[in-house]
Amino acid sequence: MANKSTLDDLAIYIHWPYCTRICPYCDFNVYKNRQDTSLVTAICEDLSGWRQWGGPRHVSSIHFGGGTPSLLKPEDIAQILFHIQTLWQLTENCEIAIEANPQDANIQRWNAYAQTGITRMSLGVQSFHDPALKLLGRDHSGAQAKAALRLASEIFSFVSADLIYGWAGQTHTLLQQDLNILLSSQIGHISAYQLTIEDGTAFHKAEARGDIKSVNADQSAEFYEHVRDQLLQAGFSHYEVSNFAKPSHMSQHNLAYWQGRDYVGVGPGAHGRMTLDNVRYAAISNLQSEAYQTRIAAHKNGIENLSTLSPEDWGEEYVLMGLRIQDGISLSRYNGITGKALPSHVIDMLIEDGLLQRNNDRLTATDAGRLVLNKVTEMLLLTQ
Ligand code: SF4
Repeated sequence: MANKSTLDDLAIYIHWPYCTRICPYCDFNVYKNRQDTSLVTAICEDLSGWRQWGGPRHVSSIHFGGGTPSLLKPEDIAQILFHIQTLWQLTENCEIAIEANPQDANIQRWNAYAQTGITRMSLGVQSFHDPALKLLGRDHSGAQAKAALRLASEIFSFVSADLIYGWAGQTHTLLQQDLNILLSSQIGHISAYQLTIEDGTAFHKAEARGDIKSVNADQSAEFYEHVRDQLLQAGFSHYEVSNFAKPSHMSQHNLAYWQGRDYVGVGPGAHGRMTLDNVRYAAISNLQSEAYQTRIAAHKNGIENLSTLSPEDWGEEYVLMGLRIQDGISLSRYNGITGKALPSHVIDMLIEDGLLQRNNDRLTATDAGRLVLNKVTEMLLLTQ
Protein backbone atom coordinates (compact mmCIF):
# COMPACT_ATOMS: atom_id res chain seq x y z
CA MET A 1 0.00 0.00 0.00
CA ALA A 2 1.11 3.56 -0.68
CA ASN A 3 1.35 5.86 2.32
CA LYS A 4 0.00 9.23 1.45
CA SER A 5 -2.80 10.61 -0.72
CA THR A 6 -1.97 13.21 -3.35
CA LEU A 7 -3.85 15.11 -6.05
CA ASP A 8 -2.49 12.57 -8.54
CA ASP A 9 -4.34 9.72 -6.87
CA LEU A 10 -7.19 8.10 -8.67
CA ALA A 11 -10.80 7.73 -7.51
CA ILE A 12 -12.93 4.82 -8.78
CA TYR A 13 -16.71 5.03 -9.17
CA ILE A 14 -18.79 1.89 -9.75
CA HIS A 15 -22.38 2.50 -10.86
CA TRP A 16 -24.95 -0.19 -10.00
CA PRO A 17 -28.01 1.00 -11.94
CA TYR A 18 -30.83 -0.93 -10.26
CA CYS A 19 -33.33 0.12 -7.59
CA THR A 20 -36.26 -1.78 -6.08
CA ARG A 21 -38.42 1.13 -7.16
CA ILE A 22 -37.82 4.44 -8.86
CA CYS A 23 -38.28 7.56 -6.71
CA PRO A 24 -40.35 10.29 -8.36
CA TYR A 25 -37.64 12.98 -7.98
CA CYS A 26 -34.74 10.87 -9.26
CA ASP A 27 -32.99 11.77 -12.52
CA PHE A 28 -30.08 9.30 -12.27
CA ASN A 29 -29.47 6.49 -14.72
CA VAL A 30 -31.57 3.88 -12.89
CA TYR A 31 -33.72 0.87 -13.79
CA LYS A 32 -36.12 -1.39 -11.94
CA ASN A 33 -34.19 -4.11 -10.14
CA ARG A 34 -33.53 -7.41 -11.92
CA GLN A 35 -30.98 -10.20 -11.90
CA ASP A 36 -27.93 -9.09 -13.87
CA THR A 37 -25.08 -11.28 -12.68
CA SER A 38 -22.99 -10.85 -15.84
CA LEU A 39 -22.79 -7.11 -15.13
CA VAL A 40 -20.31 -7.70 -12.30
CA THR A 41 -17.95 -9.55 -14.66
CA ALA A 42 -18.39 -6.79 -17.25
CA ILE A 43 -17.54 -4.13 -14.66
CA CYS A 44 -14.32 -5.99 -13.82
CA GLU A 45 -13.37 -6.14 -17.51
CA ASP A 46 -14.12 -2.44 -17.87
CA LEU A 47 -11.83 -1.71 -14.89
CA SER A 48 -9.05 -3.65 -16.66
CA GLY A 49 -9.64 -1.49 -19.74
CA TRP A 50 -9.26 1.72 -17.70
CA ARG A 51 -6.06 0.40 -16.09
CA GLN A 52 -4.58 -0.43 -19.47
CA TRP A 53 -5.46 3.02 -20.77
CA GLY A 54 -4.55 5.13 -17.73
CA GLY A 55 -1.50 3.19 -16.52
CA PRO A 56 -0.37 2.60 -12.95
CA ARG A 57 -1.73 4.97 -10.28
CA HIS A 58 -2.50 4.96 -6.59
CA VAL A 59 -6.19 4.65 -5.75
CA SER A 60 -7.39 6.77 -2.82
CA SER A 61 -11.13 6.06 -2.98
CA ILE A 62 -13.56 3.48 -4.33
CA HIS A 63 -17.25 4.33 -4.35
CA PHE A 64 -20.16 2.00 -5.06
CA GLY A 65 -23.02 4.28 -6.12
CA GLY A 66 -26.20 4.05 -8.08
CA GLY A 67 -28.94 3.17 -8.26
CA THR A 68 -28.83 1.02 -5.18
CA PRO A 69 -25.48 -0.75 -4.91
CA SER A 70 -26.55 -2.29 -1.61
CA LEU A 71 -28.57 -4.68 -3.80
CA LEU A 72 -25.19 -6.21 -4.69
CA LYS A 73 -24.25 -9.37 -2.85
CA PRO A 74 -21.14 -9.14 -0.62
CA GLU A 75 -19.45 -11.72 -2.90
CA ASP A 76 -19.94 -9.40 -5.88
CA ILE A 77 -18.46 -6.47 -3.97
CA ALA A 78 -15.55 -8.67 -2.89
CA GLN A 79 -14.97 -9.78 -6.49
CA ILE A 80 -14.82 -6.18 -7.74
CA LEU A 81 -12.59 -5.01 -4.88
CA PHE A 82 -10.23 -7.95 -5.33
CA HIS A 83 -10.01 -7.20 -9.03
CA ILE A 84 -9.25 -3.50 -8.39
CA GLN A 85 -6.36 -4.52 -6.15
CA THR A 86 -4.88 -6.69 -8.90
CA LEU A 87 -4.86 -3.60 -11.15
CA TRP A 88 -3.88 -0.66 -8.94
CA GLN A 89 -2.16 -0.01 -5.64
CA LEU A 90 -4.48 1.36 -2.94
CA THR A 91 -3.33 4.17 -0.64
CA GLU A 92 -3.06 3.28 3.04
CA ASN A 93 -6.27 5.11 3.98
CA CYS A 94 -8.14 4.33 0.79
CA GLU A 95 -11.83 5.10 1.40
CA ILE A 96 -14.15 2.32 0.25
CA ALA A 97 -17.77 3.46 0.37
CA ILE A 98 -21.20 2.16 -0.53
CA GLU A 99 -24.58 3.86 -0.79
CA ALA A 100 -27.46 2.01 0.86
CA ASN A 101 -31.16 2.36 1.46
CA PRO A 102 -32.46 2.12 5.04
CA GLN A 103 -34.95 -0.64 4.19
CA ASP A 104 -32.04 -2.88 3.16
CA ALA A 105 -30.48 -2.78 6.64
CA ASN A 106 -29.38 -6.28 7.52
CA ILE A 107 -26.77 -7.09 10.14
CA GLN A 108 -25.32 -10.16 8.39
CA ARG A 109 -25.11 -8.48 5.02
CA TRP A 110 -23.62 -5.23 6.29
CA ASN A 111 -21.08 -7.13 8.42
CA ALA A 112 -20.17 -9.05 5.27
CA TYR A 113 -19.75 -5.74 3.43
CA ALA A 114 -17.38 -4.55 6.15
CA GLN A 115 -15.40 -7.76 5.75
CA THR A 116 -14.87 -7.03 2.05
CA GLY A 117 -13.09 -3.79 3.08
CA ILE A 118 -15.94 -1.27 2.95
CA THR A 119 -15.27 1.46 5.52
CA ARG A 120 -17.98 3.98 4.79
CA MET A 121 -21.73 3.77 4.31
CA SER A 122 -23.89 6.54 2.90
CA LEU A 123 -27.54 6.07 3.82
CA GLY A 124 -30.43 7.49 1.79
CA VAL A 125 -32.39 8.59 4.87
CA GLN A 126 -33.98 11.73 3.33
CA SER A 127 -36.34 12.29 6.31
CA PHE A 128 -37.68 10.56 9.41
CA HIS A 129 -41.17 11.94 8.85
CA ASP A 130 -43.38 9.19 7.39
CA PRO A 131 -45.69 11.44 5.30
CA ALA A 132 -42.59 13.06 3.74
CA LEU A 133 -41.09 9.67 2.93
CA LYS A 134 -44.40 8.72 1.31
CA LEU A 135 -44.43 11.93 -0.75
CA LEU A 136 -40.82 11.26 -1.81
CA GLY A 137 -41.81 7.75 -2.93
CA ARG A 138 -39.41 6.06 -0.52
CA ASP A 139 -40.20 2.59 0.73
CA HIS A 140 -38.75 2.97 4.22
CA SER A 141 -40.27 4.46 7.37
CA GLY A 142 -38.75 6.94 9.80
CA ALA A 143 -38.31 4.11 12.31
CA GLN A 144 -36.42 2.02 9.73
CA ALA A 145 -34.18 4.99 8.95
CA LYS A 146 -33.30 5.37 12.64
CA ALA A 147 -32.58 1.65 13.00
CA ALA A 148 -30.43 1.67 9.84
CA LEU A 149 -28.38 4.61 11.14
CA ARG A 150 -27.78 2.79 14.43
CA LEU A 151 -26.72 -0.41 12.67
CA ALA A 152 -24.46 1.37 10.17
CA SER A 153 -22.77 3.27 13.02
CA GLU A 154 -22.05 0.00 14.83
CA ILE A 155 -20.48 -1.59 11.75
CA PHE A 156 -18.73 1.14 9.71
CA SER A 157 -16.13 3.72 10.82
CA PHE A 158 -17.68 6.42 8.65
CA VAL A 159 -21.41 6.94 8.19
CA SER A 160 -23.16 9.59 6.15
CA ALA A 161 -26.86 10.34 5.77
CA ASP A 162 -28.68 12.14 2.98
CA LEU A 163 -31.35 14.61 4.07
CA ILE A 164 -33.86 16.20 1.70
CA TYR A 165 -35.48 19.47 2.69
CA GLY A 166 -37.94 21.77 0.98
CA TRP A 167 -40.74 19.22 0.35
CA ALA A 168 -44.32 20.48 0.27
CA GLY A 169 -45.78 20.68 3.75
CA GLN A 170 -42.43 20.85 5.54
CA THR A 171 -42.39 23.29 8.45
CA HIS A 172 -39.52 24.55 10.61
CA THR A 173 -40.63 22.17 13.34
CA LEU A 174 -40.55 19.17 11.02
CA LEU A 175 -37.13 20.16 9.68
CA GLN A 176 -35.85 20.57 13.23
CA GLN A 177 -37.17 17.14 14.15
CA ASP A 178 -35.22 15.56 11.28
CA LEU A 179 -32.07 17.45 12.28
CA ASN A 180 -32.45 16.50 15.95
CA ILE A 181 -32.63 12.81 15.10
CA LEU A 182 -29.65 13.04 12.75
CA LEU A 183 -27.57 14.91 15.31
CA SER A 184 -28.43 12.53 18.13
CA SER A 185 -27.24 9.61 15.95
CA GLN A 186 -23.65 11.00 16.23
CA ILE A 187 -22.82 10.30 12.59
CA GLY A 188 -19.90 12.26 11.11
CA HIS A 189 -21.27 13.32 7.73
CA ILE A 190 -24.54 14.76 6.43
CA SER A 191 -25.47 15.65 2.85
CA ALA A 192 -28.42 18.05 2.78
CA TYR A 193 -30.16 18.50 -0.54
CA GLN A 194 -32.92 20.88 -1.47
CA LEU A 195 -35.76 19.07 -3.26
CA THR A 196 -35.80 20.22 -6.86
CA ILE A 197 -37.90 19.06 -9.77
CA GLU A 198 -35.74 17.77 -12.62
CA ASP A 199 -36.94 17.35 -16.19
CA GLY A 200 -38.19 13.89 -17.08
CA THR A 201 -38.87 12.78 -13.50
CA ALA A 202 -42.28 11.55 -12.29
CA PHE A 203 -42.55 14.70 -10.13
CA HIS A 204 -41.95 16.87 -13.18
CA LYS A 205 -44.73 15.14 -15.12
CA ALA A 206 -47.16 15.21 -12.16
CA GLU A 207 -46.49 18.90 -11.50
CA ALA A 208 -46.94 19.71 -15.19
CA ARG A 209 -50.35 17.96 -15.08
CA GLY A 210 -51.19 19.94 -11.94
CA ASP A 211 -51.65 16.67 -10.00
CA ILE A 212 -49.37 17.47 -7.06
CA LYS A 213 -47.29 20.15 -5.50
CA SER A 214 -44.12 18.53 -4.19
CA VAL A 215 -41.78 21.42 -3.46
CA ASN A 216 -41.95 24.12 -0.82
CA ALA A 217 -39.90 26.58 -2.89
CA ASP A 218 -40.73 29.69 -0.83
CA GLN A 219 -38.95 28.47 2.27
CA SER A 220 -36.10 26.46 0.74
CA ALA A 221 -33.49 29.22 1.10
CA GLU A 222 -34.51 29.77 4.73
CA PHE A 223 -34.32 26.02 5.39
CA TYR A 224 -30.83 25.90 3.83
CA GLU A 225 -29.64 28.59 6.28
CA HIS A 226 -31.29 26.75 9.16
CA VAL A 227 -29.68 23.42 8.29
CA ARG A 228 -26.32 25.13 7.94
CA ASP A 229 -26.56 26.99 11.26
CA GLN A 230 -27.62 23.89 13.15
CA LEU A 231 -24.89 21.71 11.72
CA LEU A 232 -22.17 24.32 12.26
CA GLN A 233 -23.29 24.66 15.88
CA ALA A 234 -23.06 20.89 16.25
CA GLY A 235 -19.39 20.91 15.17
CA PHE A 236 -19.74 20.05 11.48
CA SER A 237 -17.79 21.97 8.86
CA HIS A 238 -19.67 23.14 5.79
CA TYR A 239 -17.01 21.84 3.43
CA GLU A 240 -19.11 21.78 0.25
CA VAL A 241 -22.35 23.51 -0.78
CA SER A 242 -24.53 20.55 0.26
CA ASN A 243 -22.12 18.62 2.48
CA PHE A 244 -21.21 18.85 6.15
CA ALA A 245 -18.61 16.81 8.01
CA LYS A 246 -17.08 16.37 11.43
CA PRO A 247 -13.25 16.50 11.40
CA SER A 248 -11.75 13.68 9.26
CA HIS A 249 -15.21 12.56 8.03
CA MET A 250 -15.25 14.37 4.66
CA SER A 251 -16.03 12.20 1.65
CA GLN A 252 -12.63 11.59 0.06
CA HIS A 253 -14.31 10.30 -3.06
CA ASN A 254 -16.50 13.35 -3.66
CA LEU A 255 -13.53 15.60 -2.89
CA ALA A 256 -11.77 14.00 -5.85
CA TYR A 257 -14.55 15.31 -8.14
CA TRP A 258 -14.58 18.76 -6.60
CA GLN A 259 -10.79 19.06 -6.64
CA GLY A 260 -10.73 18.23 -10.34
CA ARG A 261 -8.81 14.98 -9.92
CA ASP A 262 -8.96 11.94 -12.20
CA TYR A 263 -11.62 9.31 -11.67
CA VAL A 264 -12.48 6.03 -13.31
CA GLY A 265 -16.20 5.51 -13.93
CA VAL A 266 -17.50 1.98 -14.58
CA GLY A 267 -21.00 0.55 -14.84
CA PRO A 268 -23.85 1.66 -17.13
CA GLY A 269 -23.95 5.43 -17.61
CA ALA A 270 -20.89 6.11 -15.42
CA HIS A 271 -18.78 9.18 -16.15
CA GLY A 272 -14.99 9.31 -15.81
CA ARG A 273 -12.12 11.77 -16.25
CA MET A 274 -8.53 10.90 -17.11
CA THR A 275 -5.59 13.24 -17.68
CA LEU A 276 -2.80 11.89 -19.86
CA ASP A 277 0.10 14.02 -21.21
CA ASN A 278 -1.77 17.10 -20.01
CA VAL A 279 -4.86 16.23 -22.08
CA ARG A 280 -8.08 15.86 -20.07
CA TYR A 281 -10.44 13.14 -21.34
CA ALA A 282 -14.14 12.85 -20.47
CA ALA A 283 -15.67 9.38 -20.74
CA ILE A 284 -19.30 8.26 -20.57
CA SER A 285 -20.33 4.60 -20.57
CA ASN A 286 -23.31 3.13 -22.39
CA LEU A 287 -26.48 3.87 -20.42
CA GLN A 288 -28.13 0.45 -20.70
CA SER A 289 -26.61 -2.64 -19.16
CA GLU A 290 -27.03 -4.74 -22.36
CA ALA A 291 -25.33 -2.15 -24.59
CA TYR A 292 -22.62 -1.63 -21.97
CA GLN A 293 -21.86 -5.35 -21.84
CA THR A 294 -21.97 -5.75 -25.62
CA ARG A 295 -19.50 -2.92 -25.95
CA ILE A 296 -17.14 -4.43 -23.38
CA ALA A 297 -17.26 -7.82 -25.16
CA ALA A 298 -16.29 -6.11 -28.43
CA HIS A 299 -13.85 -3.40 -27.28
CA LYS A 300 -12.68 -4.41 -23.78
CA ASN A 301 -14.08 -1.18 -22.35
CA GLY A 302 -17.55 0.24 -21.74
CA ILE A 303 -16.85 3.80 -22.85
CA GLU A 304 -19.44 4.83 -25.41
CA ASN A 305 -18.43 8.44 -25.63
CA LEU A 306 -14.86 9.69 -25.23
CA SER A 307 -13.99 13.32 -25.78
CA THR A 308 -11.13 15.64 -24.96
CA LEU A 309 -11.86 18.79 -23.01
CA SER A 310 -10.50 22.01 -24.49
CA PRO A 311 -8.30 23.96 -22.02
CA GLU A 312 -11.22 26.42 -21.61
CA ASP A 313 -13.75 23.65 -20.85
CA TRP A 314 -11.32 21.99 -18.47
CA GLY A 315 -10.67 25.30 -16.69
CA GLU A 316 -14.40 25.99 -16.49
CA GLU A 317 -15.06 22.58 -14.96
CA TYR A 318 -12.24 23.15 -12.46
CA VAL A 319 -13.75 26.48 -11.34
CA LEU A 320 -17.36 25.23 -11.26
CA MET A 321 -16.46 22.24 -9.11
CA GLY A 322 -13.70 23.84 -7.04
CA LEU A 323 -15.64 26.86 -5.82
CA ARG A 324 -18.20 24.49 -4.30
CA ILE A 325 -15.69 23.43 -1.63
CA GLN A 326 -14.31 25.27 1.34
CA ASP A 327 -10.75 24.91 -0.02
CA GLY A 328 -11.70 26.62 -3.27
CA ILE A 329 -9.41 26.67 -6.29
CA SER A 330 -5.75 27.30 -6.99
CA LEU A 331 -5.31 30.28 -9.30
CA SER A 332 -1.99 28.94 -10.57
CA ARG A 333 -3.60 25.59 -11.38
CA TYR A 334 -6.29 27.37 -13.41
CA ASN A 335 -3.50 29.18 -15.18
CA GLY A 336 -1.66 25.91 -15.84
CA ILE A 337 -4.81 24.35 -17.32
CA THR A 338 -5.91 27.20 -19.57
CA GLY A 339 -2.70 29.17 -20.17
CA LYS A 340 -4.38 32.33 -18.89
CA ALA A 341 -5.43 33.92 -15.62
CA LEU A 342 -8.91 34.49 -14.26
CA PRO A 343 -9.73 38.20 -14.69
CA SER A 344 -8.28 40.06 -11.70
CA HIS A 345 -10.71 42.99 -11.95
CA VAL A 346 -13.67 40.58 -11.65
CA ILE A 347 -12.02 38.77 -8.74
CA ASP A 348 -11.44 42.11 -6.98
CA MET A 349 -15.04 43.18 -7.57
CA LEU A 350 -16.44 39.87 -6.25
CA ILE A 351 -14.16 40.13 -3.21
CA GLU A 352 -15.41 43.67 -2.60
CA ASP A 353 -19.00 42.41 -2.85
CA GLY A 354 -18.23 39.82 -0.17
CA LEU A 355 -18.76 36.85 -2.51
CA LEU A 356 -15.16 35.63 -2.86
CA GLN A 357 -12.08 35.50 -0.64
CA ARG A 358 -8.47 35.26 -1.70
CA ASN A 359 -5.63 33.80 0.30
CA ASN A 360 -2.42 33.89 -1.77
CA ASP A 361 -2.99 31.31 -4.52
CA ARG A 362 -6.38 30.10 -3.21
CA LEU A 363 -9.68 31.60 -4.24
CA THR A 364 -12.76 30.55 -2.26
CA ALA A 365 -16.44 31.45 -2.24
CA THR A 366 -17.76 33.05 0.96
CA ASP A 367 -21.02 31.85 2.55
CA ALA A 368 -22.83 34.61 0.67
CA GLY A 369 -21.00 33.62 -2.54
CA ARG A 370 -22.06 30.01 -2.21
CA LEU A 371 -25.70 31.09 -2.20
CA VAL A 372 -25.22 32.65 -5.65
CA LEU A 373 -22.47 30.39 -6.94
CA ASN A 374 -23.85 30.16 -10.47
CA LYS A 375 -23.75 33.91 -10.79
CA VAL A 376 -20.21 34.12 -9.33
CA THR A 377 -18.77 31.47 -11.65
CA GLU A 378 -20.57 32.95 -14.65
CA MET A 379 -18.99 36.34 -14.00
CA LEU A 380 -15.54 34.84 -13.49
CA LEU A 381 -15.67 32.71 -16.61
CA LEU A 382 -17.48 34.93 -19.05
CA THR A 383 -15.65 38.15 -18.29
CA GLN A 384 -12.21 37.22 -19.63
S1 SF4 B 1 -33.21 4.89 -4.51
FE1 SF4 B 1 -31.84 6.62 -5.09
S2 SF4 B 1 -31.05 6.08 -7.11
FE2 SF4 B 1 -32.82 4.74 -6.74
S3 SF4 B 1 -34.55 5.80 -7.68
FE3 SF4 B 1 -34.51 6.43 -5.51
S4 SF4 B 1 -33.24 8.31 -5.47
FE4 SF4 B 1 -32.88 7.30 -7.47
